[in-house]
Amino acid sequence: MKEVKKQILALRKALHDHNYRYYVLDDPIISDYEFDQSIRELTNLEKQYPEYHDPNSPTLRVGGGVTKDFPTLVHEFPMYSLDNAYSQQELLDWEKRVQKGLGTDEVSYTCELKYDGVSISLTYDCGVLERAVTRGDGTQGDDVTQNIRTIPTVPLELRGDFKERFAVRGEIILPIDGFNKMNEQRIVEGEEPYRNPRNTASGSLKLQDSKLVALRPLQCFLYQMIANRTLFSTQIESLQAAHDLGFNVPKYHTLAPNIDEVIRFITHWEKERTNLPYEIDGVVVKVNDIAQQDELGYTSKSPRWAIAYKFKAASTYATLESVQFQVGRTGAITPVAILNPVVLGGTVVKRASLHNADQIEKLDLYFGDSVAIEKGGEIIPKIISAESSKRSTDAKKVYYITHCPDCKTELVRMAGEADHYCPNNDGCPTQIIGRIQHFISRKAMNIYGLGNETIELLYYQGLLISYADLYTLTYEKLIPLERMADKSVQNILDAIDKSKTIPFERVLFGLGIRYVGQTVAKKLAISFGSIDALAKANFDTLVQVDEIGIRIAESVVEFFDSLSNIQIIDRLKTYGLQLKSQLNNFKPLSNKLEGQSFVISGVFATHSRDEIKTLVEDHGGKVSSSLSSKTSFLLAGENMGPKKRIKADQLGIVVIDETIFLSMIST
Ligand code: AMP
Ligand code: ZN
Repeated sequence: MKEVKKQILALRKALHDHNYRYYVLDDPIISDYEFDQSIRELTNLEKQYPEYHDPNSPTLRVGGGVTKDFPTLVHEFPMYSLDNAYSQQELLDWEKRVQKGLGTDEVSYTCELKYDGVSISLTYDCGVLERAVTRGDGTQGDDVTQNIRTIPTVPLELRGDFKERFAVRGEIILPIDGFNKMNEQRIVEGEEPYRNPRNTASGSLKLQDSKLVALRPLQCFLYQMIANRTLFSTQIESLQAAHDLGFNVPKYHTLAPNIDEVIRFITHWEKERTNLPYEIDGVVVKVNDIAQQDELGYTSKSPRWAIAYKFKAASTYATLESVQFQVGRTGAITPVAILNPVVLGGTVVKRASLHNADQIEKLDLYFGDSVAIEKGGEIIPKIISAESSKRSTDAKKVYYITHCPDCKTELVRMAGEADHYCPNNDGCPTQIIGRIQHFISRKAMNIYGLGNETIELLYYQGLLISYADLYTLTYEKLIPLERMADKSVQNILDAIDKSKTIPFERVLFGLGIRYVGQTVAKKLAISFGSIDALAKANFDTLVQVDEIGIRIAESVVEFFDSLSNIQIIDRLKTYGLQLKSQLNNFKPLSNKLEGQSFVISGVFATHSRDEIKTLVEDHGGKVSSSLSSKTSFLLAGENMGPKKRIKADQLGIVVIDETIFLSMIST
């Protein structure tokens, strides 16, 4: 073997090792500086000798690859969910079923913490990571391998020489500390904080840029290894083996010889959970003996040999100090309870959500009340009840406001809706500022350099009354303002100018039409093609669009009924914003499929579902989501549900596979 190749392999092995010692064992033997030096050395060698590329090289932990679509992959072993027990009684009932199923009461159990994150299935072959797939519907999930590779506790190469192909199941989690740091950063940058670690972990796996994933402090906890043959005789043994292979198996699990010990473990962790650096939502109890597990087997949804004991949501009492009514950019009012600070679920809580007027009425709240608060999955806890018996006789009742706390306009509540609104959309400062802040946000027009505070300042200086005014800002107008310098003004003007190339669907999202989020904006952009066509669309045309419901349709119509909105849009046109969609401006490659309508179902061998869809459209065909008498072909992949086939037969629709389809469009 060439000297260089040897050197590269040795460096990789050493770095995998140090990585394991640092992240899994928490026991590094070299300094961070030395680690970085070795990474640098390896990176340089890999650049010089690209022929030795390896997707599992430790240098690729920093990410780099961008994934546009996450292809769907079928799980080699289906990923089941778990049955839940919410009380000791339910746990004992499960124990009875297990004993009955096995015909013996000699059963021991492993107790593991139930990590609150997203499930993942990692496949290893010949000792290296081959792929990482999300649970999806249990049968198939999304291929997120590129992103998973950046997580330091996922071994890219196994320790020892276990070469057999197997899958390992685990949970990707975001530790509380790392989550809080991410939020501090977001608040500094004027962005909405993330709501909870689990959703954030889940969202991270679907980021398109793996570099961004690498920046997030994600971790991977493992709890099960599966192969074509039985690898271990007990669950506890498999956890130890997984650990020895280099997986991060948290140390808090135990072998319980009987259910009493299981209950002891649960009671302990129900109290101790708040001292963990990550969130757990229960304890998973598994029959320890794998032969017994096999005997019990699975229901259609979950293993009979395991159960998740779910903890009750953390709760405590706090004093209600005041209620704030916040006005959103669409005018919606959100009441928030301000509490004397208390510790709940490991964090200090000062606010609780009150949802809406009905909720406040139902709780029958008085200022100064002692209130029970509970934290579910969300960062902001909610108020469950008020202790009326402890209330002083002169306490004042909390009433919902009748007028906007900002512009003092009388609030309205639409029939059938829970929220109140300030109807003064054009004159209410909080709404106007909120709308401009939304317009410039990253997912909309991405006008960086203009923070939320600057927007407020510009509004109160009379320089911005609507987002259209952004395009009238000049150097002369901005430079006299506080904290503005030559460079920052230039950056702002550049970003504003650049926003003129932002595609229509994002402009549409930026307009801030109520209920028109990113996905809906994209749908509308594709269906109508331009702002003019959308403005002309009436309610009936709108609701005909897939996934556009009554609420959205009404809101769109209302938006374009407003003269001031039309005037703003006319101005945006003259400033040169993209108000026509590029999404459907394509010429078909051929008209081979003209007039044909396809329904696509299942998983395909050589193309992702989205690719197939694009192919149909590229050749002049149409894709729809459900079978009807108008469907010409059902394009069936692997794992298509049986119901679809039966329905296709009933309707007399021709069912074709991928090969036939590809031959239909080949020349
Ligand atoms: P649920 O999503 O409530 O059906 O619970 C099932 C999920 O719990 C599994 O899919 C795993 O993602 C997750 N889980 C967390 N910790 C464990 C564990 N120690 N053993 C098995 N599953 C776990
Ligand atoms: Zn108002």
